[in-house]
Amino acid sequence: MDKLRFGTAGIPICTKGDTLKGIGQIRKLNLDAMELEFVHSINISKEKAPEVMKAARDNNVVLTCHAPYYINLNSDDKKKYHASISYIVNSARITSLCKGWSVCFHAGYYMKTDKEKTYERIKDAVKKIVKEVKEFDDKIWIRPEISGKGSQFGDLDELIKLSRDVDGVMPCIDFSHLYARTIGENNSYKEFKLIFERVEKELGKVALENMHMHVSGIEYGEKGEKNHLILKESGFNYKELLKALKEFRVKGVLICESPNIEEDALLMQKEFNKL
Ligand SMILES: [Zn+2]
Repeated sequence: MDKLRFGTAGIPICTKGDTLKGIGQIRKLNLDAMELEFVHSINISKEKAPEVMKAARDNNVVLTCHAPYYINLNSDDKKKYHASISYIVNSARITSLCKGWSVCFHAGYYMKTDKEKTYERIKDAVKKIVKEVKEFDDKIWIRPEISGKGSQFGDLDELIKLSRDVDGVMPCIDFSHLYARTIGENNSYKEFKLIFERVEKELGKVALENMHMHVSGIEYGEKGEKNHLILKESGFNYKELLKALKEFRVKGVLICESPNIEEDALLMQKEFNKL
């Protein structure tokens, strides 16, 4: 990626209209990225995708996507398992037609399985996904996301390991989820630095230069994530994170998932540019 691009999870709230208008609005706000939110449904058709691609290209906006929430790659239910794979592949297919850059998803739940077994099952599923996606796009990143609760697969160790084990996979690092799932840890410059050092050491410079990240204010309880908040109402230390991002010359896309998506994205971009 050319630089660190700040963007919103979905079309900016101030947009009057659809995805196409949203992309134009991102440029008007002087942001540089937007995540297509397929979380409730894959709401862009094959026919519409070329228009979305053109809008993104004309406005120099990088597109990422968030696959549907109804995914559990560790499900015992065969139907659910295969549907989960399809959701991710189909999200990637549409994102690819929009010339999007990266697809993130919540991989699943441990349920009654132990961590090791869950890892193996999810790894097999992700391998299947990557194989299918490579048939139509060999550049798009497939990114399991750091999840906000201890009951969900996806801590930093698991995602780094998965990225090493499967070609074409990199983590989507959701710093607010990481902070919530570790009940308030991973919230200082020192800890952020350790994360970037580890990412560089284990996944290479390419990972630091192509990071897909999520940040929002967040509230957590003893089980982890409760709900998203605006940054200023949350204990999440985004200023220290921005410092570490600058220090490590991280490039890629940082998507803001606060309830006031564009305001907090702009706040972070402004703070970052001051450093
Ligand atoms: Zn997510």
